[in-house]
Amino acid sequence: MKLYVEADTNPKALSGARIAVLGLGSQGRAHALNLHDSGHDVVVGLRPGSATRQSAEAAGLAVADPAEAVRGADLVAMLVPDMAQPAVFDQIRPHLKDGAALLFAHGFNVHYGQITPPDNVDVILVAPKGPGDLVRRQYEEGRGVPCLMAVAQDATGKAKQRALAYAHGLGGTRGGVLETTFAEETETDLFGEQAVLCGGATELVVKGFETLVEAGYQPEVAYFECMHELKLIVDLLHEGGLAKMHEFVSETAKWGDLRSGPRVVDDHAHERMREVLKEIQDGTFAREWIAENKQGLPNYKRLMQADLDHPIEKVGSDLRGRMAWLKKPPAAA
Ligand code: NAD
Ligand code: MG
Repeated sequence: MKLYVEADTNPKALSGARIAVLGLGSQGRAHALNLHDSGHDVVVGLRPGSATRQSAEAAGLAVADPAEAVRGADLVAMLVPDMAQPAVFDQIRPHLKDGAALLFAHGFNVHYGQITPPDNVDVILVAPKGPGDLVRRQYEEGRGVPCLMAVAQDATGKAKQRALAYAHGLGGTRGGVLETTFAEETETDLFGEQAVLCGGATELVVKGFETLVEAGYQPEVAYFECMHELKLIVDLLHEGGLAKMHEFVSETAKWGDLRSGPRVVDDHAHERMREVLKEIQDGTFAREWIAENKQGLPNYKRLMQADLDHPIEKVGSDLRGRMAWLKKPPAAA
């Protein structure tokens, strides 16, 4: 494992460089602001008439149309949604400078062949392991979210130093920058969100809630038990792994964990995880997701609505309304 810190970066790798950040969403906003505050020359590429134009200018960022931003840029950060990237790339490709670096925060389009950059540019990845809001907040507090870094194409011989310098500008070297490949970042990121984080954890919560409610327990009590209290456990895991979680729960909870956990998430679940991973590795998932987008997201919309219509959402929204400390996350600056 290679973990890079500030001492490993060459501050000259991006000095005097013009950085074009395309897209001002979760990652784009954090990258643009952090790089700007780190002293880089940043221009944000936004579609004409983009609603975020005003707030970008109010935050002190230079704004241009995507093609204009890319013209003359030494590094172009592609931070529009993954499914919008191939079309945006087609627009900006004629304006990419010889020897520029094209940077991604997720390897999807390069790894699955949806974007094929020309041979005369560096193709690099810097992926903070956290949402943009956290990337910005940690930076402002003098800390940094750890990042993954990879090089897919080194046209200039400086690709890796440029990626490290970019990660440094985000605050990432304060948290540590771990070297990976586009393939590893893409496949593990998709697997994590599907099997464990977004897909796995929410299904575990919902199935637990359903089990209690169908057995006749009050939905409110089931909500507290299965959804609300998850945060306590996740915080302990985040701070100190399994050991810290075990340290802070009761002896009875520990025994219940050891006795029943592996029966719920059993060999069958493990086998399903391997299936999910295989579909990511062989491109099945990517092909389906691209086709779903091209068809206007019919299945996505139907499944999302079913999730939002689940009784746990009604109970949850009522109960959360009584918890004054549950404020909305800070609005994007
Ligand atoms: P997002 O959806 O939050 O924001 C995308 C931005 O692009 C928005 O400002 C939107 O207005 C703009 N946009 C949308 N379509 C466009 C188009 N056709 N042309 C120009 N601009 C357009 O995106 P995000 O979640 O920040 O994701 C950006 C990249 O970062 C993706 O590659 C994603 O996989 C990666 N990433 C995201 C996170 C995260 O926490 N959200 C974490 C790591 C990596
Ligand atoms: Mg779900």
